[in-house]
Amino acid sequence: METTGWGGLRRFGAYALVTLVPVVWLGFVLTHTFRTEIERDAIQEARAHAATVSAAALEPFLRGQPFSLGLTSDERVDIARTTSTLLERGTVLQLRLRTNDGQIVFDAADPAAGPGDAIIDPEVQEAVELGSLVALTTVGSDAVDGKQVDGAPAVEAYIALYAVGQPDRVVGVAEMYLPYAPIAEGQQHTLNRLLFTIVVGLAILWMVLAALVLSVARRVRRHSEQAERVALHDQLTGLPGRAIYADRVDAALAAAGRLGTDVALVVIDIDRFKEVNDTLGHRNGDALLRIVAERLTAALRPGDTVARLGGDEFGVILPGVRSDSVEAILRRLQDYLAQEAELGGVVVSVEASMGYAMWPCDADHADSLVQRADLALYAAKTARAAIVRYHPGVDEFDPKRLGLIAELRRAIGADELVLHYQPKVEAATGRVVAFEALVRWVHPTRGMVPPNDFIPIAESTGLISPLTHWVVDTALTQLAEWSRSYPELSMAVNISARNLRDDLPGWIMNRLAAHGVRADQLVLEITETSFATDPVRATALLEELNAAGVKVSLDDFGQGYTSLGSLGHLPVSELKIDRGFVLAMETSPEDRAIVASVIELGHQLGLTVVAEGVETEAARDDLLGLGCDTMQGYLFSRPLPAAQALGLLGTAPLRV
Ligand code: C2E
Ligand code: MG
Ligand code: MG
Repeated sequence: METTGWGGLRRFGAYALVTLVPVVWLGFVLTHTFRTEIERDAIQEARAHAATVSAAALEPFLRGQPFSLGLTSDERVDIARTTSTLLERGTVLQLRLRTNDGQIVFDAADPAAGPGDAIIDPEVQEAVELGSLVALTTVGSDAVDGKQVDGAPAVEAYIALYAVGQPDRVVGVAEMYLPYAPIAEGQQHTLNRLLFTIVVGLAILWMVLAALVLSVARRVRRHSEQAERVALHDQLTGLPGRAIYADRVDAALAAAGRLGTDVALVVIDIDRFKEVNDTLGHRNGDALLRIVAERLTAALRPGDTVARLGGDEFGVILPGVRSDSVEAILRRLQDYLAQEAELGGVVVSVEASMGYAMWPCDADHADSLVQRADLALYAAKTARAAIVRYHPGVDEFDPKRLGLIAELRRAIGADELVLHYQPKVEAATGRVVAFEALVRWVHPTRGMVPPNDFIPIAESTGLISPLTHWVVDTALTQLAEWSRSYPELSMAVNISARNLRDDLPGWIMNRLAAHGVRADQLVLEITETSFATDPVRATALLEELNAAGVKVSLDDFGQGYTSLGSLGHLPVSELKIDRGFVLAMETSPEDRAIVASVIELGHQLGLTVVAEGVETEAARDDLLGLGCDTMQGYLFSRPLPAAQALGLLGTAPLRV
């Protein structure tokens, strides 16, 4: 931190200037106030002095005759005597006696002179009225003296005079000029002392303020620097946070651009971190993050950057690497992370998924590089691959899709999903024997989103599990309600291949019991392709459900390539002919032939055969002739909201 040197001096200079202005102003105001005060004191002093002179040297000798009648000769003699002493000593510079109007009747400088001209002097009249008038002036500046401009500084005092024993009758006015110099000297002395005190006091005040301000400023700066560090660095691991990471990405690309080298941007996500947090507690979760941070930092070169991007996600910038050596570096990182660590008494080994993108090969600017490294990580997670480099053309990488994932996660909990129900109709009678529950997403801004637009996303992200749980629960609630009036009714729900997990049968049985619905009222529609990935496991799970009484229907049959030979071994009780064949059968003899042989084959294997996508009466009649058991399609009804679907149950057979 910079406390001395040029920066410190500059700051101090600025402080000095800014604070000097009010301090100087304060000094000026104080000085002015004191000067005025002192002048007032001087005048007071002069007034007292003049009063003493008139009381001691003038009034005792007055006989009571107003000056307008002139002085008596006794008065003139006495007063000339006393005032000459005053003039000699210099205590009074000039002394005149004047009538109440202002006419001069006696002048101490020339006691023998007769009365002057009759004039009116307002200063004299004011003294008669108020008793006295005192002011700073210069000798000889009054009108009666001819307004001299260069007289000595003096205090002029006009004092009303009373004869002894006549305290309410003004006989005339004494005009005196008292020397200002001795008064001014004392005054100046006091002022100087005051000025000195003010200047020293203000200087001390200014310095104390300076010390205070500087120390506060230093503390504030230290705090803000610390706050900035905390905000920019992750507190748990001490690694740079997102803001620094973004800056370093920019810097790395700029440097690489100059040097003509490549930059790899890697995003790392710890596998099953949530499990560690949930089972070993947050403290151990934090410890794990710290271990990962330390190991990543230790494994990389000093010029590389490791940052924590949030949660269990880390970002790594590798400047100046060749794209063909990145995988080797990342594998080394993975080995490093995989070393066993002890957490809360449990030995764990950290596994991590990594996605990366290369600059300038995979993206030409920072934003898209960051985004593409993210997408690569997402692909690594989805594909359960340890390391994935970004490559274009995979629809999983579509950012719009990523946005939809986040929204779908919310939608499942936020009541934005609804089920519509499409009837399955018994071919021979036209009676509704079952409903198929089909999910829709009532999106707040996109409106009704069809399942084909979001089921694949749910399947590839793990959201299919909560989604299916919601669908089954909602459909069973509906079925339980309708069953009270229609106990033979059954409900079909679509189950995705990703739902075929070991806990499925137990969960389904649990929900049936919870809703009080018989197992044979539930049909699980599973596509042929669900068997493709892990046929043994899928078969085992469905057998378990079948044994418990739940029916399984093979949806969209004919689209995949289930060998007809294996069909007999699958635990299914219903075949649903794919609507593509049904829609085309009236125009294409080949499709009609396939429909016919599927019906034939299904019956041979003891299965119920359903035709979906029945839109026309011709198709219906044809299918009826071919012996199809059940039909479903727009001809009978589109998928409907629950309230409308219920209406179909009470009515006459549908279009038979
Ligand atoms: P699917 O199981 O084969 O469902 C039948 C689809 O065919 C439905 O489309 C239905 O509206 C449509 N359909 C019915 N009759 C006719 C017709 O006469 N002509 C034509 N052209 N189409 C007809 P939908 O509702 O858009 O569902 C599409 C697919 O989405 C479903 O195919 C199913 O595979 C999937 N799906 C729907 N709901 C769910 C669900 O809750 N879970 C899962 N995993 N998948 C679902
Ligand atoms: Mg279906
Ligand atoms: Mg289907």
